[in-house]
Amino acid sequence: MGNIHEFQELMKELYLEKDLKRGKEKTALKLMEEVGELAEAVLLEDEEKVSEEMADIIAWVFSIANLYNINLSDAFKEKYNQTCPKCNENPCICNSI
Ligand SMILES: [Zn+2]
Repeated sequence: MGNIHEFQELMKELYLEKDLKRGKEKTALKLMEEVGELAEAVLLEDEEKVSEEMADIIAWVFSIANLYNINLSDAFKEKYNQTCPKCNENPCICNSI
């Protein structure tokens, strides 16, 4: 247990049946709820809650990936392959913060 793909497989075992019943749109809304909770935890400077909410966010992202049969480990490696996808530098030298 430890790499991205293994976590995605665990989320599939635990939740795929429920995710299929809920569907893509409602699952995406669940992710948005958790993003809101993370923002609230950041504002409250509640570090333990920040940590928990980030874990929830990743779990919901995996659920969405499973509904689309997307291998998130591959998707991540494809997009973030050693350099920033916008400026192609490492570290990033884009002007945006
Ligand atoms: Zn960049």
